[in-house]
Amino acid sequence: MLAESIVSPIDIPAWTNSAMDGYAARAADVRGASPALPRRLRVVEAIPAGAFPSRSIGPGECARIFTGAPMPDGADAVVMVEDTVSAGDRVQVSRSARPGDHVRPAGGDFPEEGIDVDAGERLRAPHLGLLASIGVARPAVRRRPTVAVFSTGDELRSADTSDLPPGAIRDSNRPLLVGLLEEFGAVVKDLGIIGDDAATLRSALEQAAGVCDAIVTSGGVSMGDYDVVKAVLGRIADMTWMQVAIKPAKPLAFGKLGGVPIFGLPGNPVSSAVSFELFARPAIRRLAGHPDHRLDRPCPTAIAVDGLPRKPDGKIHFVRVVVRIGAEGRLEARSAGAPRSHHMTGMAAANGLAIVPDSLGIPAGGRVGVLLTGALS
Ligand code: AMP
Ligand code: MG
Repeated sequence: MLAESIVSPIDIPAWTNSAMDGYAARAADVRGASPALPRRLRVVEAIPAGAFPSRSIGPGECARIFTGAPMPDGADAVVMVEDTVSAGDRVQVSRSARPGDHVRPAGGDFPEEGIDVDAGERLRAPHLGLLASIGVARPAVRRRPTVAVFSTGDELRSADTSDLPPGAIRDSNRPLLVGLLEEFGAVVKDLGIIGDDAATLRSALEQAAGVCDAIVTSGGVSMGDYDVVKAVLGRIADMTWMQVAIKPAKPLAFGKLGGVPIFGLPGNPVSSAVSFELFARPAIRRLAGHPDHRLDRPCPTAIAVDGLPRKPDGKIHFVRVVVRIGAEGRLEARSAGAPRSHHMTGMAAANGLAIVPDSLGIPAGGRVGVLLTGALS
């Protein structure tokens, strides 16, 4: 993420140069040339890429020139080698040229003092090439945000355990959330699994707040007796507890501990992913310096081919869907199946969340907005 806009100290190209292998000439000298009426020019020098012209081109003269080599003064066009026949220090040109033909003007890509890359741009390979062209080999970039992640719940065991006592399940939220964070460049501090114990939780939270830019937890924020995250955060942090009118991911806790933002996401895996997507991801991207228009995912309209039925319940539903490019380039969305908030297969199959308003749903063939969370298939 570029920290400051980069202003070019030079024109690129730095000097007017040839776009072709051929002959740098004066267009007026070859105007009207054709295979039947070739023009003869005197070749005064050769200018390969990396060389600089030693003299200017006068009437009736030309220079052999190669792609990228600087144009000599006096010449205003390049005749392609394919339209010439060379004979000693002469060349016959069999095609007419206009001023500017096959010439790349100085500053034609971008001018000196022009802004080449804006602050807030996430640098991709083409930007690195562009910046290298003006001598910026190590651009100033923003530090990646460090985000602490932990899962809470006495029932949780780490994914690599082979020994699951009765009642225990494997912690799937942590790898899921770590992956979602790393996807946009956050540095993750994985704090593991914390049981439903107030003292341990408190020290984990306080330790995390000391070393990171944001904290993401999952589990323990709803209305249950064992929702210890809620109890502990309520005491040590400045929190807001929310019931958001969406499905999945109704419970959400957001607040600050020593100035560090905390996202208390719900425990069910699909809820925790949707909650992360809607609330934590844009906020952490903002923290990382992404400009406003890059905080959210693209949200095109798609055709709900088979419909997305639901019942009115006062909430907006975020339905896991598979989005693909269909006939005539239209986007088509289909339910990814396994629709409940603990169903991970539907979530894994999906590349989007269809936004289905409080209603009887979308009829077959109806239009629906889709938050694209993955690549189109
Ligand atoms: P909670 O909000 O803590 O009551 O959790 C709601 C549901 O999500 C329960 O079925 C939990 O077992 C489950 N759950 C909580 N955390 C995780 C996790 N890290 N991985 C998988 N399931 C979880
Ligand atoms: Mg729990």
